[in-house]
Amino acid sequence: MSRPLTIAIDGPAAAGKGTLAKRIAARYGLPYLDTGLLYRAVGKLAFDAGVDLDDAARATDIAKRLEFSHLDDPALRGHEAGEHASRVAVHPGVRAALVDFQRSFAGQHAGAVLDGRDIGTVIWPQARVKIFVTASAEVRARRRTDELLAKGRAVDYDRILAEVKARDERDAGRTVAPLKAADDAHLLDTSELDIDGAFRAACEAIERSLA
Ligand code: C5P
Repeated sequence: MSRPLTIAIDGPAAAGKGTLAKRIAARYGLPYLDTGLLYRAVGKLAFDAGVDLDDAARATDIAKRLEFSHLDDPALRGHEAGEHASRVAVHPGVRAALVDFQRSFAGQHAGAVLDGRDIGTVIWPQARVKIFVTASAEVRARRRTDELLAKGRAVDYDRILAEVKARDERDAGRTVAPLKAADDAHLLDTSELDIDGAFRAACEAIERSLA
């Protein structure tokens, strides 16, 4: 029997991982999990309940009680939810509480595509294909600003750039499961690529791994 096709897609905020992961999942007929949603749900539940996001014990408690039906909330996709997510994601207890769900998703018989920060390094180091998607902070901030402007939000590029850099620092600087490429990941810099170009490059990397 052939090994399940599990594809780990990691990288910093707004690098284009989500769009890419969805297209890859559709192309290979695999189930897809956006693991950022788990952290976003914990951050939003904590924030809405008035919990201090730096309070590790209370955030961990919320993560342990997370119901996966919470992941459908459209508010989780918003910019603020991402900021709250990255604050609760530094707590080791929060991360530990979310591991089993991610591993059981990754371990599906048919294989799976997961995107996040630590899929190829911590959650599923045995993934058959690992892709680390990056783009310069400036390009990512420009994309995020344009996205928000298109939704009619009044946003300032410089503020978004500062937030992107702060989020990178928090995600890469935490002690548990920091954002970093696995040694055996394909590096995909999307700074100069549109989504079609990024998708083509990712598929080539996958085909090379499978060859
Ligand atoms: O990918 P997304 O922007 O939705 O992630 C939101 C935040 O959740 C990230 O900035 C990161 O702090 C955290 N996260 C994480 N590990 C993951 C996915 C997301 O720490 N696997």
